[in-house]
Amino acid sequence: MKKATEISHDNFSSDLSRKSAFLQHPIFNTYHSETAMLRYLRTLADRDLALDRTMIPLGSCTMKLNATTEMEPITWPEFSALHPFAPAEQTQGSRRLISQLSDWLVAITGYDAVSLQPNAGSQGEFAGLLAIRNYLNNNGGSERDICLIPSSAHGTNAASAVMAGMKVVVVECDEMGNVSLPDIRAKIAEYSGRIAALMVTYPSTHGVFEEAIGDICAAIHDAGGQVYVDGANLNALVGLAQPGKFGADVSHLNLHKTFCIPHGGGGPGVGPVIARKHLAPYLPNHPLDPSAGPASGPGPISAAPFGSASILPISWSYIRMMGGDGLTRATQVAILSANYVAQQLKNDYPILYTGRNGLIAHECIIDIREITKDSGVTVDDIAKRLMDFGFHAPTMSFPVAGTLMIEPTESEDIHELDRFIEAMKIIAAEIAAITEGKVALEKSALRNAPHTAEDLLRTEWDRGYSREIGAFPAGSNIGLMRSGKYFPTVSRIDGAYGDRNLVCACEPISALAIN
Ligand SMILES: *Cc1c(COP(=O)(O)O)cnc(C)c1O
Repeated sequence: MKKATEISHDNFSSDLSRKSAFLQHPIFNTYHSETAMLRYLRTLADRDLALDRTMIPLGSCTMKLNATTEMEPITWPEFSALHPFAPAEQTQGSRRLISQLSDWLVAITGYDAVSLQPNAGSQGEFAGLLAIRNYLNNNGGSERDICLIPSSAHGTNAASAVMAGMKVVVVECDEMGNVSLPDIRAKIAEYSGRIAALMVTYPSTHGVFEEAIGDICAAIHDAGGQVYVDGANLNALVGLAQPGKFGADVSHLNLHKTFCIPHGGGGPGVGPVIARKHLAPYLPNHPLDPSAGPASGPGPISAAPFGSASILPISWSYIRMMGGDGLTRATQVAILSANYVAQQLKNDYPILYTGRNGLIAHECIIDIREITKDSGVTVDDIAKRLMDFGFHAPTMSFPVAGTLMIEPTESEDIHELDRFIEAMKIIAAEIAAITEGKVALEKSALRNAPHTAEDLLRTEWDRGYSREIGAFPAGSNIGLMRSGKYFPTVSRIDGAYGDRNLVCACEPISALAIN
């Protein structure tokens, strides 16, 4: 072993040492002490409107509690410092965890086989469609190239189908938000002999349980196709229904939704692809680890044999701590919470889709289009105004433009749901004041939301409302609105313009040029 004094930082050939400047941005050269670094990180955290301050009612995204006990194990080096290609005999514990989690997911969904390799729901979709493609190719269906996708589908569905070499044909939805049976029958007839798959989300992104799902699956099977059920909305199913039993052949799950892995901001995800027996031979595998999948598989879908393996302890702990009864109860409470929000809001905002019994699944879409027509108030205005209350916005204009999709999840207690409902009712009253001509839209708190501290404390003030109403919309105190006020850090921006006109906040490109 070398003595410390003999270890040089340039004990490599000098022509390899870097001469050019690097990391020139001030962010890399400002915080030199641990104290300064700590405060910088705290500043960033304070700007964040995250689950540790408020519910994030993003429909289709299932932003639920990431419990501390679930999160703790991923800080242990036994999980976090394990190399993805470490030899099997050194990774027995992780492998046992992977195999137990796999068994539990199979038991929950009613399928037969699963691969935890995909790093995202969309990767799981691609893997699942690839399994269908390869199964068809090996069973006399190589000419089948059509993937039917209802108009309510998540955008990733169509992208995955195209990546797997299929052509997308859109199936219409009826006025109740369900896949239109006449249209799906017409499309099956039109593309007779060419149907490879149907990709359907259950419950749909319209927030309803399609009653005809069994018939829809049967019609596709009769036409010689395979059924892909997008399982990202499994939070409405766990313990109550099993896609592997009601007619689907393959699904992906989102462990970073239903099974508690934190998400948003581009963190690592896990999108297991899970299938019935006949598709099992076509699930992902890995040339460097024969235990990662079937020898007959298509090869790897992501770089590592078991994908984002280091975060699997989160989902493992969640399922282990909840148990079967606990998971079922979570689903029931998630559905109950969504229906409570819908019932409380339905007189102020029309609910776009409900089932035959007037109920919804685990998320509800409120329709803002008439409100926009009557008052000019848009989904953006409502979403931004919610920030003044300290709420993260619901999902905007997906899957239907001009609507808001709210998914409370089982993690929110009645007080947080009531706080949200009260905020939405106060916003409804603000909209009414505009409709009645008491306040001009352009001068309204809705149009000028969200309100930053700087905006509110300016000397000039010519709005149609007081500064107090800007900061504290209720004029009263909902929850901790006054004592725990969250001040948005950026006021209204033109989101669409920004998306189309990217501005780089880094050093100019010229600073990066090699000279
Ligand atoms: C989130 C979601 C997906 C995609 O999952 P990613 O992990 O974001 O790729 C697909 N379908 C539905 C219905 C979803 O909600």
